[in-house]
Amino acid sequence: MLPERIEDWTERTIVCFGAHPDDDLHAAGTFARLIQAGNQVHLVMYTDDDKGSKDRSMTAERLTAIRRQEQETAAAQLGIPVENLHWVGHGDGELEYVDPRQLCRQGAEILRRLRPDAVFSFDPGAQWEQFHKSDHRASAFSTIDAMRASQWHLYFPDLLEQGLEPHEVPVAYFYESHEPNVFIDIETTIEQKISAFCSHVSQFGRRLQAYEPEMHEEDRAGFEALIRAYTAHIGQPHGMKHAEAFRRVVNDE
Ligand SMILES: [Zn+2]
Repeated sequence: MLPERIEDWTERTIVCFGAHPDDDLHAAGTFARLIQAGNQVHLVMYTDDDKGSKDRSMTAERLTAIRRQEQETAAAQLGIPVENLHWVGHGDGELEYVDPRQLCRQGAEILRRLRPDAVFSFDPGAQWEQFHKSDHRASAFSTIDAMRASQWHLYFPDLLEQGLEPHEVPVAYFYESHEPNVFIDIETTIEQKISAFCSHVSQFGRRLQAYEPEMHEEDRAGFEALIRAYTAHIGQPHGMKHAEAFRRVVNDE
C-alpha cells in the first residue's frame, strides 16, 4: 500500500505529465524531496514547446533542441536522470488539435510501461477549462483519460498484445489547483527548485526576446525572489516557510 503522506514514500515510481518542459516546476521541490527519499520520478512532456520565443531569428527546430536541453539540465537539478524524460513530441500550442484518441493512447502506453504508484498532472478543474492555455487543458483532461484507459483491459487492445498489462494508478496529485488539499514542505529543496527554474533560460525574461544560452543575472535574481515569495505564500498559512500545493484525488474506479 502506498502511504498516504508523500513525505513517507520510498522506492516508489512517480510520473508527472505536463504539456511543456517547465510545467513540472509546479512540483519541483516535492520531486527533489521524493528523489532524496529513494523514489523514481519520470517527466512526460506532451509537446516540445517549440513556439514560445519572440526572437525573430529563432526556428521551431532550433527551439525544440534548446528546450529539450534545458529540460535535461533542469531535471538534473532535481536528481532526475535523462532516461526518465519522456517526450511525446506534439507541437506547442496545438495539443487540443491532436486526435484525442491518439493522445489518450500515448498516455495509457506510458502508464502501462512505467506502472507508477502516483501521477502528477495539471488540475483538470473548471478554472483551467475557462482560463488557461489550451495545451494545459488538453494535458489535464487527456492524462485523466489515459489513467482510465491504462486500468481497463478493453481500452486499446493493441497495448495488451504488446504485453502491456493494465495498470491502475492509485492516486493523482494535481498541481496548479484552485482547490489544493495537500501542502508539501519544500524548505530543504527550494534551492533546487530555483535552479531548475533558472535552467529554462529561453523561456523567461530577456532571453525570450533574444536568445542566449545564459540567463541574465538580474532576471535570475528577480525569478528567485518571485519563487520564494510564491512558495512562502503557499506555505505560511500551514506553518511552513516554503511549500507546494496539490489536490489529491484517490482513484476509486
Ligand atoms: Zn506549460
